Amino acid sequence: MNVNNPSKSYGEITGPVVMIGFGSIGRGFLPLLERHFKYDKDRLVVLDPVENQKHLLDERGIKFLKVGLTEANYEEVLTPLLKNGPGQGFCVNLSVDVCSLDVMKLSRKLGAFYIDTVVEPWTGFYFDTSKSNSARSNYALRETLLAEKKNNSGGITAVSCCGANPGMVSWFVKQALVDIAVDKNIPFDLPQTREQWASLMKDTGVKGIHIAERDTQRAKHPKPANRFVNTWSIEGFVSEGLQPAELGWGTHEKHLPPTGKRHETGCQAAIYLTQPGANTRIRSWCPTLGAQYGRLVTHNESISIADYFTVGAKDRPDFRPTCHYAYHPCNDAILSLEEMFGKAGEKQKELHILEENEILDGIDELGVLLYGHHKNAYWYGSQLSIEETRKLAPYQNATALQVTSAVAAGMAWALENPNQGIVEADEMDFRRCLHFQKPYLGPVNGYYTDWTPLQGRPGMFAENIDREDPWQFHNVLVTT
Ligand code: NAD
Repeated sequence: MNVNNPSKSYGEITGPVVMIGFGSIGRGFLPLLERHFKYDKDRLVVLDPVENQKHLLDERGIKFLKVGLTEANYEEVLTPLLKNGPGQGFCVNLSVDVCSLDVMKLSRKLGAFYIDTVVEPWTGFYFDTSKSNSARSNYALRETLLAEKKNNSGGITAVSCCGANPGMVSWFVKQALVDIAVDKNIPFDLPQTREQWASLMKDTGVKGIHIAERDTQRAKHPKPANRFVNTWSIEGFVSEGLQPAELGWGTHEKHLPPTGKRHETGCQAAIYLTQPGANTRIRSWCPTLGAQYGRLVTHNESISIADYFTVGAKDRPDFRPTCHYAYHPCNDAILSLEEMFGKAGEKQKELHILEENEILDGIDELGVLLYGHHKNAYWYGSQLSIEETRKLAPYQNATALQVTSAVAAGMAWALENPNQGIVEADEMDFRRCLHFQKPYLGPVNGYYTDWTPLQGRPGMFAENIDREDPWQFHNVLVTT
């Protein structure tokens, strides 16, 4: 295996390692855990209610517990595992339907490190019709994390939402911002505090950020009808896709969208739309294929990044960027969404995540598009192909490797910074984390573009557009 990794050892886990979930991300993470961390193999255990590709664990003699965690059993199941022997354990939560906050709190109480890739609730939350749209949002889920962070500050490090996005993209935002500031000849020292980062963004003139992703991985066989096909968790994608669309709401915005609503409590960094995110199209741009429709799927980073880069009071900020996901999933997933929303959001019975060997070609181009500044817009990110992924690590496609390498980087950072309490990716050392992660990301490049959401508009039909400011969300949102 040809891994050009300057820092092969990412650290030692002195206690037990408990991995929750052995799906597409869990399986892809396993080889990175083995390659980069020192730990006691006899105290590594993987939990999942489904025996999917368990042979990977059996071949290695890794203990597997066939169990689904629930609100009723998680303490009983996890406590003996995380307290198994001396040292500080690590709980790596890569599951769906398991409440991140409860497992994080328990891990910390037991003196174990914790990491996840999403603020996940217990089963049922996403589809609970008794909840208001605001209560079903990622904003609401993140607020539960912020409350815990405030009430129980400090202590052993627990990293929240440290996948590709949320996760790695927060590190990309900082690198992109530094690039823009340098190109603009702004004199600055590398910011050391949240306030300094936010001021730097304000000074560069950035108005907002798209998490702009284009997944061009193509299956060898065309998608059959009535099967949802994707390159990562379909349960995860459908759950978030049916949540209300959400976005960090910037101070430059003049027009609240017709379905836009503000939250009554909390950090105030974001709004939500009373429509499902995966059925909400927006205009965005990625380097290889240029202008594209993305989906405004709600994500934790849309809110955390907008919150992190806020200047001034949260309820009356001097500056805040707009921030949202602009996701063009693989073409099979687009067809799957068409099918699903054609049936009023009823999920297909058959779900299939494309394995590495089922993919013909393609890349996952995942980056951040910082817009509205002196050079219009700048995309910075990873352009990882399936071919390169195969050379870098087994059991995963390009999408998964961007996630699993972020988890590994987050764990490495946690081991180096063991007493930071609960942290979000925005608060971590972006250079250190990217140092660990970059060998797995394929080409990582920055591109300026003169594209704006007004390019080519209006076409042959009249449109309600804001010509004064191309970068209004009003122009980004597709309404016709
Ligand atoms: P997956 O659907 O392939 O796997 C999820 C696994 O969780 C499955 O094996 C499932 O059996 C298991 N599981 C379900 N209920 C469980 C329970 N009660 N207890 C323990 N395990 C349970 O999903 P994936 O693609 O591996 O994604 C895993 C998680 O990572 C999801 O939450 C997803 O949203 C998240 N994710 C984050 C990012 C990111 O960039 N931040 C990217 C991809 C996935």
